[in-house]
Amino acid sequence: MTTHFDLLAIGGGSGGLAASQRAAEYGAKAAVIEAGRLGGTCVNVGCVPKKVMWYAASLAEHFEMAAGYGFDISASAVDWGRLKQARDAYIARLNGIYAANLERRGVTRFEGLAHFVDARTVEVAGQRITADQFVIATGGEPMVPAIPGAELGITSDDFFALPEQPRRVAVVGSGYISAELAGVFHALGSEVTVLLRRDRILRSFDQMLSDRLLEQMRADGLRIETEVSPAVVEQVDDGRIVCAQDGRRFGPFDCVLWAIGRRPRSTELQLDAAGVDRDEVGFVPTDRFQQTNVSGIHAIGDITGQAALTPVAIAAGRRLSDRLFGGMAERHLDYSDIPTVIFTHPPIGTVGCTEAEARTRFGDDKIKVYTSRFTPMAYALQTRKVPAAMKLVTVLPDEKIVGLHVIGDGADEMLQGFAVAVKMGATKRDFDDTVAIHPTSAEELVTMR
Ligand SMILES: Cc1cc2nc3c(=O)[nH]c(=O)nc-3n(C[C@H](O)[C@H](O)[C@H](O)COP(=O)(O)OP(=O)(O)OC[C@H]3O[C@@H](n4cnc5c(N)ncnc54)[C@H](O)[C@@H]3O)c2cc1C
Repeated sequence: MTTHFDLLAIGGGSGGLAASQRAAEYGAKAAVIEAGRLGGTCVNVGCVPKKVMWYAASLAEHFEMAAGYGFDISASAVDWGRLKQARDAYIARLNGIYAANLERRGVTRFEGLAHFVDARTVEVAGQRITADQFVIATGGEPMVPAIPGAELGITSDDFFALPEQPRRVAVVGSGYISAELAGVFHALGSEVTVLLRRDRILRSFDQMLSDRLLEQMRADGLRIETEVSPAVVEQVDDGRIVCAQDGRRFGPFDCVLWAIGRRPRSTELQLDAAGVDRDEVGFVPTDRFQQTNVSGIHAIGDITGQAALTPVAIAAGRRLSDRLFGGMAERHLDYSDIPTVIFTHPPIGTVGCTEAEARTRFGDDKIKVYTSRFTPMAYALQTRKVPAAMKLVTVLPDEKIVGLHVIGDGADEMLQGFAVAVKMGATKRDFDDTVAIHPTSAEELVTMR
């Protein structure tokens, strides 16, 4: 088998697959090394199974709304095992499709955990492979706190392996994975306690979004505990207890889920052998062309510590191969105004700066903010109301929109088109000049005053 390639991607997740396949489309001899399942985090333990669970959770909410619309539906509890089986089968199909795609494009696939031997050589499963261009795309992995009893908890990876639904769940963490998985557990009927380190969830997002989400989580019956720093997890007869540093005890729980962040998977790569720099956390820094400090070694996706999202890893990988093999010398990913959706209940869509960031960047007197809060029509016939909230952050004098934030049903599908407008530099006037679509929630974004 050939052991020299034009491009070798380490990691067969979103980024590595994108870079190697795009390179092969240009006729380059490309290969990818994957230690686990093809598709990486997104397909196996991230976006895809998460979204399946979010659909299930959303269905459960719709069953509850059915009575308000005259239906006599009593949905029994979800059959978690059946749902998992169907979800796993779907993902296995995707794994197969990814493998077939590699084969169809002539990308060679190696299985195993790779490490650098030197700046031109990588070793996997005892085999040495050389390449002109390397792409480090090894992603990240969930973190577990270094506290006694931490092993009694599970991570987001383990969430997708749960054979049955736990009844009493603690979700520890305030990021989007915590918010999303807490929402899934709750909507499917678990009793959920969310343990936040401070007093907010989604702290890096616009405050309107985090406030509205926390308000809804509380209204829906999730227990939210703030200022909790777990110190120990104890196993008692009836479950697991999370003991906080300040002496508070939470539980017992059937499941404690750590959603406290992700760390880069760079240790196993033995980057020192190639002279590739890592930062103090382990991320691999690059320039805007995804180039590390070593010529011919690039890094893309979560391993770089920038915007950890699947489409970002894919876009960076494709642009890198466009540049290396497609004759597009300046091609690179612009990391500004990356839209993102959080699949909470209700979902969140956001692009651009938060209001606080805009005030710091442009100055208070240059910022004009438009907000709206309303109850979508879907809830007119319901007793449970789920208000939506929206915010446009604009910069004077022409009110260029630099931030657009939505929480409410449909926000997930609403955002992509608005993200195009923001990326193109739309102003509030452009939004005002766009005729609304009625009756929708999205129309609120073009009718704000
Ligand atoms: C629960 C969860 C939900 C998410 N939801 C979303 C979402 O809704 N939308 C979104 O855009 N993003 C989401 N993400 C983030 C998204 O999954 C990542 O941003 C994306 O997968 C990053 O792609 P990547 O190629 O950088 O890394 P990964 O997809 O993590 O791929 C890296 C691959 O490298 C392999 N690997 C690691 N080290 C080695 C080695 N030394 N040798 C060989 N192979 C190696 C790993 O096995 C892995 O398959 C979610 C993540 C999680 C955890």
